[in-house]
Amino acid sequence: MQEAIVIGGGVIGLTSAWWLLEAGFKVTLLERDAVGMAASYRNGGQLSYRYVAPLADAGVPFKAMQWLFQENGPLRFRPEADLRQWRWLARFVANCNSADNARTTAKLLELGELSRRAMAELAPVLPLDAFDWRDAGKMVVYRSQSAFKAAVARPDADGTRQVLSGAECAVREPALAAVAPLLAGGIFNQGEAVADCYAFCAALAARLAAHPRFQGSVRADVHRIVEDGGAITGVDTSAGRFKADHYVLAAGIDSRDLAAAVGIYLPLYPLKGYSLTAPIRPGDCAPAISITDFERKVLYARIGDALRVAAMVDMVGADTTLDPKRVANLTRQVRATMPHAADYERISAWAGLRPATPDSAPIIGATGYPNLWLNVGQGPLGFTFACGSAKLLAGAVKGDAPPFKLDGLTLR
Ligand SMILES: Cc1cc2nc3c(=O)[nH]c(=O)nc-3n(C[C@H](O)[C@H](O)[C@H](O)COP(=O)(O)OP(=O)(O)OC[C@H]3O[C@@H](n4cnc5c(N)ncnc54)[C@H](O)[C@@H]3O)c2cc1C
Repeated sequence: MQEAIVIGGGVIGLTSAWWLLEAGFKVTLLERDAVGMAASYRNGGQLSYRYVAPLADAGVPFKAMQWLFQENGPLRFRPEADLRQWRWLARFVANCNSADNARTTAKLLELGELSRRAMAELAPVLPLDAFDWRDAGKMVVYRSQSAFKAAVARPDADGTRQVLSGAECAVREPALAAVAPLLAGGIFNQGEAVADCYAFCAALAARLAAHPRFQGSVRADVHRIVEDGGAITGVDTSAGRFKADHYVLAAGIDSRDLAAAVGIYLPLYPLKGYSLTAPIRPGDCAPAISITDFERKVLYARIGDALRVAAMVDMVGADTTLDPKRVANLTRQVRATMPHAADYERISAWAGLRPATPDSAPIIGATGYPNLWLNVGQGPLGFTFACGSAKLLAGAVKGDAPPFKLDGLTLR
C-alpha cells in the first residue's frame, strides 16, 4: 500500500488527507499548529457553489483605482519591496478581461458542482450539524441600478434564480429591512449553503484519526522539501525527517516558499480579509439567508448562533494583524445594514490570508516531480472548493482520469 504525506492541516490539507485515504493510500498529516487555525479559522462560511466568478474581470482595475481612494473602500494596497507582489498584480491585470473571466468561471462552476457532490458524500461519515451546515440559499443585493441591471442581464445557468426588487429582498429576508429603500434589487439562489469552516476542520480531523489507514496527525513545522535525483525523498521538519511515496503540498499561502525551495514558482498572493463574529440573542433579526452586499463586497451568514460577516481585500503582504480602523469601518457598515441582527457590543474580529492566484483558479495535481502534488490557491473560496479539489487531487495521485478537463486548474 502506498503512503502519502500531506503538508498543511487547513481545510484543503484535511480534505486532501480524507480523499487520499478513500483512494486507498496510507496518510500522514503534518501541521505546525493546531488544525484549521489559519485561513480556515473564521472565514465567511459560504459554500457558494454557483457564485464563483473570479475577482479578475473587465473593468476591475478601474474600479480598484476608485476603491483605493475611498476611505472606507473594500480594497487596500501597500506596495512591497517584493517582486512576487508585482508579478502577481501584473498577471491579475492581464486576467482582467471578459474572455478569461468567462473561461475561468466555467471551470470554477464545474469544480463547484463537484465540491457540492463531494460534500454530500461526506455526510454519512461527518454529520452536517457537527459544523452548523445549513442549506440557507444566497441573496446578492445591489445598491446601484447599473450593477443590478448587469447582474440580471447575465445568463441564468439553471433557470432557478429569483430576481427581486429592493422591497421584495426585505420580504424574503427581513434582516434587510433597514437597507431595503437603498437597494436597486437582489438575486436569490436556492441551494447555496453556509457552515462553520473551523468546526468542519475539527470534525474532519477527528474523523481522520479514526480511519484505519490514517497514520497520524503530527505537530511538525515543515522546513524543507527534500529533492534528490528529480524526485522528492522526504520532508525535513521540526520533528525530524518524514518519508513517503507521495507528498502533497497544501500549506495555504506558505506553500509558496516551500515550493520555491524546490524550484517551483506558485503564483500565490496573500489577500488579507477580515471577519466579524457577533452572538445572536433571542429576538435579534439575524439573516436566515446568506447575503452578499455586492458593491461593498461584504458577506453575511448566520453560523450556528452567531452572525459572521466577512469582507475586504488588503494587499499588504502576509500580515494578519488587525487594523483597528478597518475593523471599526466594517462594524459601522454592518450596524447600518443590519442594525438588529446580533449583539454588536460583543463583536470579535479576525483577519486571515486567502491564498489567491491571479485568475482565482486553484492549482491542483502534478508538478515536475513525479511524487510531489499540489492542492493550493483556492483563494476566496477555499471552503467552497475544498471537497472537490481534494477529490481531484486524490484522483490525480492515484492516476484516475479526472471527471472533467482540468485545464486552468493545474500548474501548467
Ligand atoms: C476573511 C476571509 C473570508 C473568507 N470567506 C470564505 C467563504 O465564505 N467561503 C469560502 O469558501 N472561502 C472563504 N475564504 C477562503 C478560505 O478561508 C481559504 O481559501 C481556505 O481556508 C484556505 O485553506 P488552506 O487549507 O489552503 O489554507 P490554511 O487554512 O491557511 O491552512 C494551511 C495550513 O498549513 C499550515 N502550514 C503552513 N506552512 C506549514 C509548514 N511549513 N509546516 C507545517 N504546516 C504548515 C498552516 O499552519 C495552516 O494550518 C475566506 C478567507 C478569508 C481570509
